[in-house]
Amino acid sequence: MIRFDDVVKRFGDVVVLDELNFSVAPGEFVTLIGPSGSGKTTILRLLMTLEKVTSGQIFVDGECLSHMQRGSRLVPADEKYQRKVRQRIGMVFQQFNLFPNMKVLQNLTEAPIRSLGLSRAEAEERALELLELVGLTEKVNAHPSQLSGGQQQRVAIARALAMRPDMLLLDEVTSALDPELVAGVLALLKDIASSTDITFLCVTHEMNFARDVSDRVLMFDHGQIVEDAVPDKLFSEPDHERTRTFLRAVL
Ligand code: ADP
Repeated sequence: MIRFDDVVKRFGDVVVLDELNFSVAPGEFVTLIGPSGSGKTTILRLLMTLEKVTSGQIFVDGECLSHMQRGSRLVPADEKYQRKVRQRIGMVFQQFNLFPNMKVLQNLTEAPIRSLGLSRAEAEERALELLELVGLTEKVNAHPSQLSGGQQQRVAIARALAMRPDMLLLDEVTSALDPELVAGVLALLKDIASSTDITFLCVTHEMNFARDVSDRVLMFDHGQIVEDAVPDKLFSEPDHERTRTFLRAVL
């Protein structure tokens, strides 16, 4: 579902991703851990085409993000092509990023109507199903500012699902929440991961969650993968000293 081939990302002279290679299979839940500044968020931003690779290639379900086929030639991807690839990817951010001037219902229906071509009635029906899934049916007419952080994040998750993504990118989605709201949001994500075939790529500092839900965990440092293992192995008997020192610091 996701493949990074020799991806280099530089900001000026700073090498943020250094010839990175990894892939994520359909339906897999892969978590990225590692110290701040190691390049984890940049990986998600490249997938959302919010940033461009310096060199190398990224594939989403076999489609290259930076180039498209025109006849027998590969040409740089245009905005329309990228939008189509991106439509299959949902992202949930640390700061929720809901539309503040729209009610919860419109937050969930806006993109499906505009980008998927759903009728208002279809989009609203789907939105109500998703609000039920995230436990917020009674907030359908609330504005985001009337919701707690945990509720806003649930709406953001529902909004991402409303686009029927094949893949969800989660960027530290509980970091901005009060501690007592974290467990509920993580339980919801675990539920979605186990009841759908969505592919997840997740950046988190919640090590217990990572251990609990991930199929694989990738430990990053300085833009490279230090260790790629199933969670029990990575958290209990990591092969690398860098993983051990990182886990000692955060656990
Ligand atoms: P992480 O998510 O692991 O904390 P990031 O991917 O956010 O790491 O950042 C990796 C490095 O890239 C950091 O050194 C950061 O300062 C740098 N960086 C990220 N975005 C930009 C940008 N737009 N311009 C310059 N440097 C950036």
